[in-house]
Amino acid sequence: MEVLANASQKAKYEGYYCFKCGCVKEVNEVSKRVYEGKIVDEKGEVFSVNLDLNKNVKSSCNCKQAFNRRVVCKHVVALYFKLFPAEAKRYYDEYLKPSADDNREIKKRTFKKNLLRADRSELIDYICELMDLCTDKNLDKFLDETKNFK
Ligand SMILES: [Zn+2]
Repeated sequence: MEVLANASQKAKYEGYYCFKCGCVKEVNEVSKRVYEGKIVDEKGEVFSVNLDLNKNVKSSCNCKQAFNRRVVCKHVVALYFKLFPAEAKRYYDEYLKPSADDNREIKKRTFKKNLLRADRSELIDYICELMDLCTDKNLDKFLDETKNFK
């Protein structure tokens, strides 16, 4: 979609969160595929956005990033996501959604932090709990690999 193609990464990212946080307060279709919106940012500042989705996408906003410049600012992106939530979801899935690997890594790091704070008996409890969760095969493998430790 042209709106997103013309927006910077930063504008898309900030526009997404602006939309998600409910900063788009008003949207009106003033004529066919021409919209007008009111955006209130986290500081309470109000911006007026115009978005014309006809042939050549035309947009304007009265914020200082976009005023009198051909720049697609985060407010325009937020309005666009409000009008097309499926596009917002697609943007999220493509750029923001943490992958399964990231999730695992984050969980591991958090767990490690807890381990570093735990005392010896807590550590033993953690390890025993983890052992209970292992399949027999994994447990045998683990015990085999840590023979010297036993
Ligand atoms: Zn703006």
